[in-house]
Amino acid sequence: MHIVITGGAGFIGSQTAEALLKRGDTVSVIDVFGYGYDPLHKEHNITLLSAYDGFKLYRGDIRDRDLLRQMFSDERPDVVVHLAARAGVRPSLQEPDSYSDINITGTLRIMETMREFDCNHLVFASSSSVYGSRTKGPFRETDNVDIPASPYAGTKRAGEIFCANYHYLYQMNCTCLRFFTVYGPRQRPEMAIHLFADKIRRGESITMFGDGSSIRDYTFVEDIVKGVVAAVDTPLGFEIINLGNCSPIRLDKLIEKISQAVGKEAIIERLPNQPGDVPMTFAEVTKATNLLGYAPDTPLDIGLKAFVDWLNEYDPI
Ligand code: NAD
Repeated sequence: MHIVITGGAGFIGSQTAEALLKRGDTVSVIDVFGYGYDPLHKEHNITLLSAYDGFKLYRGDIRDRDLLRQMFSDERPDVVVHLAARAGVRPSLQEPDSYSDINITGTLRIMETMREFDCNHLVFASSSSVYGSRTKGPFRETDNVDIPASPYAGTKRAGEIFCANYHYLYQMNCTCLRFFTVYGPRQRPEMAIHLFADKIRRGESITMFGDGSSIRDYTFVEDIVKGVVAAVDTPLGFEIINLGNCSPIRLDKLIEKISQAVGKEAIIERLPNQPGDVPMTFAEVTKATNLLGYAPDTPLDIGLKAFVDWLNEYDPI
């Protein structure tokens, strides 16, 4: 199969690309190497992917129509895994227009180009953030998602709605996967687990927002990638599917576990909760199990150890 991955130089994209290349698929990545964190990490990911014969890279922006046309005309992909986005909740309150432009306009450019080149299968990276500010779980795909808590969440919900629309109008197969806080090797450096583990191992203080009671359903990247690959293999019409771990944990407990994995005490500074942050995420994954055979099987302790081992090798101190 020939798969285009947008945002394939990033954390989840490069892990997905590698899994597909390993099993013999052809993978073309489009990525602008911008936004959020040091592009050197993305260059490193691309160096790893370049070792595979079936890999090709297009450097550029998903909003660039000419580049998209050139790529689709050269590659004629069977499936698009659309991960390129401005990710992260907090910066979206400062730059909502940039989030909207890349995450909504960019997604529409991808879908319009797919239509033009008769590519009929999209896997779209949505997010648990669409569930908004809730204190009761688990979160089901049928739950109300009308009140996102950040512009980022709003853009992800908009992407889902356009997927529904392109399925209705053009019968495009669109599977929207709602990822629940993904962690593991190559994780974005500004995400909590990466940031905390790095600071703790260097003996620096970490900032805990809120009283430590916020809850997240941290999901190991290999489990997420299995779900994405299953979605690539399974056109489903239009579906929205949670990919989480069904095992949420409090922030203060998470910090304890990271300290154990690193082997050092955490020095914690406390600040109030940040606007846009939500108190809880907690996935119900029955639908993913039924439709995609999804079965997350990496307990947090095992995943954190794998992450810390990777960090110490990738960025020794
Ligand atoms: P990431 O930032 O590592 O990857 C995104 C990639 O998209 C980056 O390499 C970036 O350079 C690229 N990109 C951004 N704008 C682009 C543009 N205009 N044109 C081309 N490329 C562009 O982030 P990630 O954590 O791997 O997330 C991947 C996707 O999954 C995103 O859509 C994100 O919103 C979604 N998601 C992630 C999580 C998580 O916990 N990591 C949770 C829910 C949803």
